[in-house]
Amino acid sequence: MKKPSTMHAIDLTKIEGSGDFPCPQCGSVISPEDKSEETYIIQNVKMKRNEQLEELVIQCNKCKTTMHLTGFTSL
Ligand SMILES: [Zn+2]
Repeated sequence: MKKPSTMHAIDLTKIEGSGDFPCPQCGSVISPEDKSEETYIIQNVKMKRNEQLEELVIQCNKCKTTMHLTGFTSL
């Protein structure tokens, strides 16, 4: 039997408005532009060769869920 994955992939191109989205686990609002680390901690940053952001791995401060943010190209 496979364990359910606790990893959540968030595609920012599918999020309308300012880019805020609720944590898939606890529903607390995550704002990718909020760099204060009050609601989440950045764990890993993956850049493309042209120094464009490719993927951001963040962890919700409330429930410790890990999320992989992609889709920064349109920002
Ligand atoms: Zn959460």
